[in-house]
Amino acid sequence: MKCGLEIHVQLETKSKLFCNCPTNYKEAPANTNICPVCLNQPGAKPFPTNEKALENALMISLMLNCKIEKGTAYFMRKHYDYPDLPSGYQRTSIPIGYEGELNGVRIREIHMEEDPGQYKPDKGVVDFNRSGIPLIEIVTEPDMHSPEEARNFLNQLIRVLEYSGGARGEGTMRADVNVSIEGGNRVEMKNINSIKGAYKALKFEVVRQKNLMKRGIEIKQETRAYLESQMITVSMRSKENADDYRFIPDPDLPPMKIYDNQIEEIKETMPEAPHNKARRFEEEYGLDKETAKVLTSELDLADAFEEVAKEVDPVFAGNWMREELKRVLTYNKFDFTESGISTEDIVEIINLLQNKEITTKAGQRIVEQMPNNKKSPKEIGEELGLIGIVKEDAVVKAAKQAIDENPKAVNDYKEGQKNSINFLVGQVMRLTKGKADPGETVKILKDLIE
Ligand code: ZN
Ligand code: MN
Repeated sequence: MKCGLEIHVQLETKSKLFCNCPTNYKEAPANTNICPVCLNQPGAKPFPTNEKALENALMISLMLNCKIEKGTAYFMRKHYDYPDLPSGYQRTSIPIGYEGELNGVRIREIHMEEDPGQYKPDKGVVDFNRSGIPLIEIVTEPDMHSPEEARNFLNQLIRVLEYSGGARGEGTMRADVNVSIEGGNRVEMKNINSIKGAYKALKFEVVRQKNLMKRGIEIKQETRAYLESQMITVSMRSKENADDYRFIPDPDLPPMKIYDNQIEEIKETMPEAPHNKARRFEEEYGLDKETAKVLTSELDLADAFEEVAKEVDPVFAGNWMREELKRVLTYNKFDFTESGISTEDIVEIINLLQNKEITTKAGQRIVEQMPNNKKSPKEIGEELGLIGIVKEDAVVKAAKQAIDENPKAVNDYKEGQKNSINFLVGQVMRLTKGKADPGETVKILKDLIE
């Protein structure tokens, strides 16, 4: 199969694209963030394009390694009739960026658009709060070859958008998904609004197309709707051509100037895209690929790592954050910021571990207590009696006691049941209140028994 995506996401701005109405459309009561411009009333002329929206679109284009349409860009009118669009046309810009790339998927172009209102067909009501909110549309080449690849790409793309700070997240996403299999026509699925939805729609559609082909039925070029509740796609209309939209440049809007120094300035100040950051973490800090990927999955976590890496061994810190910290975050369903764990706390616990003031196991118990805790890791450790690794002679003493008290386990071990050593390790842990190092304990027990 071949799959290409057209992804719409709202740009992060305070006001709308062609008027000064606010963009917080979800909190506001219906039809309160409106004016004659975003209602498209006859005679109401749009303001010049919101500069912040253009800046954000440029930044995202650059983060996705696009070339930039320098000089002059302008908006076109794309005509269609629907109750959420009283003007009868959607304003959509010529490409701002083009020929980009993200993890092996080529990006054909990126342009800006205005969001239409929200029409509720069951009630016959339109809420225009959303009308005129700036969107970015990202169009890929058909470079994905399975539903899984499309899902991966969307996850990575949403991550770039969130990193950029210039766009809103998956919650505002609407994607059109094109899919064809060899020998068949291209089918477009409209208005998919989550990554999971895109994945399921693709899964369904590939099977549908393969079945048609097996039965010798032509796969028509058409637009289909994905019905999330039933996880199927149904025909909407046979595919329109670009001609049907009667594109013309919008004569009400002045063209937008894109200056060379503006591009340079954005390049200098824009956040590093996550895929580029992961690559840098590997090169600069010597992290392995998977660790770099996990740590850059969240911007705050990546920033925290870089802070921590200034103070302690980056590889040790990276591995610990990926294994232990991430385990606790996942368990609590926190992202790093929500955990309230500071970089100072991380440095402190890593120092405790590296200076062998606590065992790995004690470290695990301490980190579990760290989220939203006013106490430092050391204080938590002291409270739990975990600070200070018990000296080897005390472990030897405990090991001897464990052997004396558990002749059956010792016998089992001698007869080849090597697992019974774990039982004895457990006894030593109990006797030393968890302060013995498990690896050392195994060695001591083996020596004593043998
Ligand atoms: Zn308005
Ligand atoms: Mn569009």
